[in-house]
Amino acid sequence: MTETIVAQSSAPGIGSRGLLRLSGSDSLRAAGSVFFMPTESFDELESLDAYLTRCHYGQGAPFILRGYLCAWGNPVEEESVRCALIYWPSGRSFTGEESAELHLVGSAPLLERTVQTICQSGYARLAGPGEYTLRAFLSGRLDLTQAEAILATIDAETDGSLKSALAQLSGRLSNEINALHERLFSTLCDLEAGFDFAEEDITFVTPEALSSELSSCALALEELLSRAQSQLGSERLPRVALVGAPNVGKSSLFNRLQETFGGTTRNSALVSERPGATRDYLETELNVDGSRFVLVDAAGLEEVDGLSESSDVVQHTPRALAQKKVQNVLSSANALALCYDSAQTRESALKLIPEEFRSGVIEVQTKCDLPSHGAGDGLPTSSTTGLGLTQLGRTLAATVHGHETGNDLVGTTALRCQDSLRLALESLTRAQALLEDVSTADDYLVASELRLALEQLGLITGKIHTEDVLDRIFSRFCIGK
Ligand code: GDP
Repeated sequence: MTETIVAQSSAPGIGSRGLLRLSGSDSLRAAGSVFFMPTESFDELESLDAYLTRCHYGQGAPFILRGYLCAWGNPVEEESVRCALIYWPSGRSFTGEESAELHLVGSAPLLERTVQTICQSGYARLAGPGEYTLRAFLSGRLDLTQAEAILATIDAETDGSLKSALAQLSGRLSNEINALHERLFSTLCDLEAGFDFAEEDITFVTPEALSSELSSCALALEELLSRAQSQLGSERLPRVALVGAPNVGKSSLFNRLQETFGGTTRNSALVSERPGATRDYLETELNVDGSRFVLVDAAGLEEVDGLSESSDVVQHTPRALAQKKVQNVLSSANALALCYDSAQTRESALKLIPEEFRSGVIEVQTKCDLPSHGAGDGLPTSSTTGLGLTQLGRTLAATVHGHETGNDLVGTTALRCQDSLRLALESLTRAQALLEDVSTADDYLVASELRLALEQLGLITGKIHTEDVLDRIFSRFCIGK
């Protein structure tokens, strides 16, 4: 891929500054088709080539020049705008190739015309989607996980997703995968070194050391896999479920919060596999001071203890099934708001939630406009008067975003690499099983499993890549990135 490419890198549309980017060995010649320098008398423009020769500019170091851009390629003052040219020699730029950028006023027709003139010069062609990042990847400046992180940084909508993208871009994931690759590779080398001395019974790694190293690598892989899987589960907005006994005022709170924080209702039915057991629950997307989350109004909870019998009759009644769905709502929520009124004590309300969900619930007292309500510890609210609703919205938002795990994997990477992580883990598990069973212990088979695991790790970072994987990743970028 030696052709020089050009594209607009600033956002399309109106902007105060425009940026064109060139990459490839003809970057300067291509830029020279539109970029001119003032001569010493400042009354006429000089070609870039002539200027560089006259001023003895070597091309071995980066430089910045301030000159003029003539979008039609003619060095005439009436058609020129001020422009800065930044040049990087090969090995010093983002793509690893010779590169140049033209910084000028952000006029869309001017930028378009300039790109056309550069392409007509024959020194460059229009870049394809993501081609700059692809070149950076092919020249070893980035690996695939970092290329995906660039796209995720551009697309990030929340602080959390931006932080994940930046962490991955900094190479955190690559470093972990590379360290694992290194350990497995060195284990494989030790193992294979022994093959040459099989007759003499010389080994470079004892079976115990081998087994312990494989267990430790498998653990690290498991941890990565679970992070990838949890990332895939957290792609959607965080969820808070309003829970509590029937009639405590959950639906009323749901409606008032929706009015206050401008949500859009998404009607989702809890459709059971069994006819007659369908109970609806409602979801609404709320935006509290810029913090977005989904509020869920589930069907009322009933005493968990009363439902614990495992008889088929109890398990399959519509009531039991609806409760089972409520349990699913509980486990898929990032936070729970437990609502109770004066008819219950805090303790009896808490008993409605299975134990594993009890810690960290937000306690909400409802109907506090009524006498003898609101004496407990929970946040006092009233859907009738609006008491405590703003505070409740803020508490829910703070809790749900406080619970956001510092997930450091970008969603697209998690999706792409989870199969590789799983396959690598399976290979290590098989290798361990081979080692443990004396009847099957065969170092050649163990080595081949290690090779398979290494291959899968190589696919994640892009040490090993196929054209269709690159196509899939880079086609999601826009032109100019
Ligand atoms: P849910 O079954 O928990 O969803 O409870 P609802 O929201 O359907 O409310 C049950 C009953 O309590 C209804 O009759 C409501 O009018 C009443 N209610 C709900 N919130 C309040 C409140 O803040 N104050 C008063 N006085 N009544 C309320």
